[in-house]
Amino acid sequence: MGPGRVRGVGVLELLLPASCAGCGAPGAACCPQCVAMFGRPERVARGPTARTAPVYALARYRDVARRLVLHYKERGRRDLAGPLGGVLAAALPHLPEAQPDADGVWWLVPAPSRRVASRVRGGPHLRRLAGACAAGLAGSGRPAAVAPALRLGAGARDAVGLSREQRAANLAGRLRLDPRGVPPPGTPVILLDDVITTGATAAACTHTLTAAGFPVRLILTLTAA
Ligand SMILES: [Zn+2]
Repeated sequence: MGPGRVRGVGVLELLLPASCAGCGAPGAACCPQCVAMFGRPERVARGPTARTAPVYALARYRDVARRLVLHYKERGRRDLAGPLGGVLAAALPHLPEAQPDADGVWWLVPAPSRRVASRVRGGPHLRRLAGACAAGLAGSGRPAAVAPALRLGAGARDAVGLSREQRAANLAGRLRLDPRGVPPPGTPVILLDDVITTGATAAACTHTLTAAGFPVRLILTLTAA
C-alpha cells in the first residue's frame, strides 16, 4: 500500500462527518471534554529512564486517553494531531526542566515510528504530532522546530505483544541516529512520545541522542501505561 492508501484515508476523512474519536460526539476530532482528559503533567518513574532524563505524562493510558492515542496511531485519525499536539504544547513550557536553545528555539525530537507503520498510517505519526506541538508553541510566541533525528532500522517490530526484555532488545538494537534530521550540534532537545510503558524505548532514544551530543532536557509523553 503506498501513497494510494494514504490518499484513500484522506478521501474517507473528507466524506465522513467529523466526530470526537474519544466519545463519538459530532463536531470536532476531539471534543473539549475528551481533550481535558490530558491534564496536569505528572512525573513518571520507570526503571530504564531513572538516570536518563525526567519523564512527564499528561494522562494514564486508559479509557478516553488510550482510545484517542489508539485512534490517532492505529486507525488513521490524523485529524487528532492538532488537539493532541496542542495539549503537549500547553504543558511543555511549564515543566521545570523545559528549556529552549540559546536562540530561544524549542527543539522537539519525536520518538521513531516503525518504517512499515509509517507507510500504512500515512507518515510517521509521532513526527506529525511533534509538528502540531511545534505549531502550538509557535502560536504562543515560542519558536519551535522538529528534529526527526531518530529512526528504527529495518526489521523493527511493533512493541505490542513483546515482553519487557524483548522490547528493550528490539529497540536498543535497531535505533539509529538519522544525520538528516539532527539539530545544530550541542542543541538541547525535548523527546516526545505517545505512550510510555516500560520506559525502554524512551531510555534507548535518550541514550542515542545524548551520545550524539544532544542533551535531552526531558521526555514528554501523552500517556503512561
Ligand atoms: Zn469526546
